[in-house]
Amino acid sequence: MIEACSVSLVYDDHGKPVYACKDVDLEVREGEFLGILGPSGSGKSSLLYLLSGLKVPSGGDVRYLGRRIADMNDEERAGLRLRDFGFIFQQPFLLGYLTALENVLVSGGGRSQAADLLDLLALSDKAHRLPHELSGGERQRVCVARALLGQPKVVFADEPTAALDHANGVHVVKMLKRNRGTGSLVMVTHDPTMLEEADRVIRLADGMVTE
Ligand code: ADP
Ligand code: MG
Repeated sequence: MIEACSVSLVYDDHGKPVYACKDVDLEVREGEFLGILGPSGSGKSSLLYLLSGLKVPSGGDVRYLGRRIADMNDEERAGLRLRDFGFIFQQPFLLGYLTALENVLVSGGGRSQAADLLDLLALSDKAHRLPHELSGGERQRVCVARALLGQPKVVFADEPTAALDHANGVHVVKMLKRNRGTGSLVMVTHDPTMLEEADRVIRLADGMVTE
């Protein structure tokens, strides 16, 4: 699905280059749950940005279905993120003036699919609530529903459990795993207990894959 070949991302830290990712080789296979484990600052977010085309590599290549992401124009990359990819972040970003159901619909898609997803995520009785009327775990499950709407080919999750207690974190990962259909799931985290159900786990340290 996605192939990263010797991919690097360099930030300019006031004139000094900082390698957030260095020569990473990695493949995301169709339908798999790939876990990426690493401490804070190891380059997890940067690697997700590269794999998902949110950032263009400073070196090396990322290919999606055989096509170099660097060769796509901004519009194509945006289309990819909208249609083929789903995203979940550490903090549940929801629009405060929209209900849970309306927040799911923001990613574009049918009302009945959105309602079905909320149902699967055990939120159907709360679909009409505003974000501040939901718990942290419920808010993150709304984000899961939003990311899964439209059955993306790859779902990227950047420490989706970091703002939750352990039980709610485990619940969110289970929901993501179970309801992603045939899509791949790429989840980065510093917490190995969140990756117990992953098909494969790779480790990241100082921007490099260590195993
Ligand atoms: P993680 O998600 O694992 O915490 P990041 O990918 O956010 O790691 O960051 C990896 C490294 O890149 C860190 O050393 C961080 O300080 C550095 N970094 C991240 N963003 C920037 C930036 N915009 N400018 C300079 N350095 C950055
Ligand atoms: Mg991060």
